[in-house]
Amino acid sequence: MNLMNTLNTLQRLDNLKHASDMHWDLVVIGGGITGAGIALDAASRGLKTLLVERDDFASGTSSRSTKLIHGGLRYLKQMEFRLVAEVGKEREILHRNAPHLVVPEKMILPIVRGGSFGKWSMNLGLWLYDRLAKVGKAERRTMHSTDEIKQMEPLLRPDGLMGAGMYAEYRTDDGRLTMEILKTAVTHGAFCFNYLGCSRFIKADGKISGIVCIDNLTGKEWDFQAKMVVNAAGPWVDDVRRQDGELTGKRLHHTKGVHLVVPHHRLPVRHSIYFDVPDGRMIFTIPRHPWTYLGTTDTDYSGDLSNPQTTKADADYLLDAANRFFPDTKIVLDDVVSSWAGIRPLIHEPGKSASQISRKDEVFVSPSGLVSIAGGKLTGYRKMAEKVVDLVVDSLLRSGGIPSRVGCKTANIVLSGTDWGSLADMQPRLEKLADACGLPVKELHWLGGLFGSNTQEIMNNFPASPNKTDLVLAALKYAVEKEGAVTLSDFFIRRTALLYFGRPWIQPVLEAVAHDLTNRFQHLQFDIQQQSFHRRLEEVVEFR
Ligand code: FAD
Repeated sequence: MNLMNTLNTLQRLDNLKHASDMHWDLVVIGGGITGAGIALDAASRGLKTLLVERDDFASGTSSRSTKLIHGGLRYLKQMEFRLVAEVGKEREILHRNAPHLVVPEKMILPIVRGGSFGKWSMNLGLWLYDRLAKVGKAERRTMHSTDEIKQMEPLLRPDGLMGAGMYAEYRTDDGRLTMEILKTAVTHGAFCFNYLGCSRFIKADGKISGIVCIDNLTGKEWDFQAKMVVNAAGPWVDDVRRQDGELTGKRLHHTKGVHLVVPHHRLPVRHSIYFDVPDGRMIFTIPRHPWTYLGTTDTDYSGDLSNPQTTKADADYLLDAANRFFPDTKIVLDDVVSSWAGIRPLIHEPGKSASQISRKDEVFVSPSGLVSIAGGKLTGYRKMAEKVVDLVVDSLLRSGGIPSRVGCKTANIVLSGTDWGSLADMQPRLEKLADACGLPVKELHWLGGLFGSNTQEIMNNFPASPNKTDLVLAALKYAVEKEGAVTLSDFFIRRTALLYFGRPWIQPVLEAVAHDLTNRFQHLQFDIQQQSFHRRLEEVVEFR
C-alpha cells in the first residue's frame, strides 16, 4: 500500500479522498490507546486499516489516567497469580519498545498500623510479585524499617508507621504513548484521522459493510467501505453499539477519577508513594518535577462524558487524604495549579461499587458483525489489541476476506521516537543539540522527554537565533505535520501535556502558538473553536 502520512493536518483533504476510495479490511472507531493499539497490530499484520477519531487522538480517557504502566500488584491481592505474571511480562515489552516513554519508577508502599498490608504479608507479596512479574534483580523489592523509611521520606506521618516496601512500577505519558503508537501504525500503512466521527453504519443484508463519518473540522460527510469494524470508543462504546442497533447484554459502568497537580515544594515527596486512605482505597502521589500530582478518586459518573470536571468535593477528598498522610504539608485548594478528570469505561457488575468493579476487558460481537472492546487498562493495550485483531483475522479468513493468517507482531515493534533509547541514553545527544543551538540543555530535556529521538527532526526546524518561543513553535510545526494537531488543546494538552505539567509556561507562548495555527490553517477553512482552550485553562482550577 502507498504509505501516506495521514497525520499531516495540511494534507488532510487529499488523504480523506484517498481513504474514501479504498476498501478497508478493518475500520477502527476511536483513537484512544485501545484503538491505536488495534490499528498498529492490524496494520503490521498487513490488514488495510483505517482509524477514525471523533475528537483529538487520546482526548478521552487516554490522556486522563494516573499515567502508570502497572505491574499488576492489585491482582496479587485477588490471588490472580497468572494475571500478575502476564502483566509483568507485558510491562517489560512496553518498556523495551518505548524506553523513553515507559520509564522505571520506584514506588513506596508504607506499612501503617491497621492499613492494607502488614510487614509479613507485604514482604511475601512483593517477593511473589517480583518472581511472577520477572522483575530484574536491580529492580526487585526492598523492605525498610521504620527508621529507614522516616529518613527516606520524612514527610510521612510518623505515628502508626511500621516500615515500608519499595517495588518496581513504570510511569508513562498516556497521551504521548497513544500518539507514538498511532505514528507507528501509520508507518505500517494505517490511515488515522482525528476529528472524524462515526455517525452511522452502512449495512448490507443486516451485516456492517462500512461507516459514515462527519468531518468535525469541515462538516463534510465521508463514507468508508470496510470488511470489518471495531468499536474502541472507550466510555462511548455503548453509544456506538446503539448506532448499530439495540443495546443488549452487558453495558458500561462509568466511574470518574480525578488527579490534582501541586508545586513540588508544596508536597515535596522524594519518591512515588501508594498509600491507604480512610475509606479503604489507596491513592498515589507522584513527583514530576517541578510538580507533584496525586490521585485518584473513583466515583460513579453519569454526567457529560466529553468534559468531566474536577469538583471541589473531589479536590477536598484528595487534599484531605494527602494532609492526613503527610501532616506537615498542609496543602490547600489554592496550591492546586492544575487537574484532570477521566472516565473509566468499566463493564457493569450488578451490586458492585465503583472501586470493586473489575478492570478486565471484554469483547462483544453484535449480530451485524460489530466487534466492541471495553474495559481494560492502558497497560494492557497491546494484549487487548492482539485479542481483537486475532478475532478480526479469523473472521476475515472465514469469509475469504484475506488469503492467510498472520500472527501478532507488536511485541517486536519499537515505537516511533525510540531510536535514542531511554532518557538517560539520550543525554549526550541532547547536550550536543543544546550546544549547537545555544539553549540550556534543560530545554532540550523537555523535548526529549516528550518526543524521544524525533527531537532531532524538531530541531531541524529550529531557526538560527533561537529563543524559547521558537522552540515551542518548532515543536508545534512537528505536531501539526506529523501528529495531526489542529487546536490549541491538541498541542497544549495531548502533544505536550503543558496544561497539566507546565500551566504557567503556556501564557508567554499562547499568542504566538495561536497565531501560528491560524496562519497554517487559513486556506483550509476549518471550523475551529480555539476559545474552548481558554475555557479549559480556567476549568482545571475552577473548583478552588
Ligand atoms: P479512550 O481513551 O476514551 O478512547 C476512546 C475514543 O473514542 C475517544 O477519544 C473518543 O473521542 C472516541 N470516540 C467516541 N465515539 C466515537 C465515534 N462515534 N467516532 C469516532 N471516535 C469516537 N490504566 C493504566 O494502565 N494505568 C493507569 O495508571 C491508569 N490510570 C487511570 C486513572 C483514571 C482516572 C482513569 C479514568 C483510567 C485509568 N486507567 C489506567 C485506565 C486507562 O486510562 C483506560 O483503560 C484507557 O485509557 C482507555 O482507553 P480507550 O482507548 O479504550 O478509551
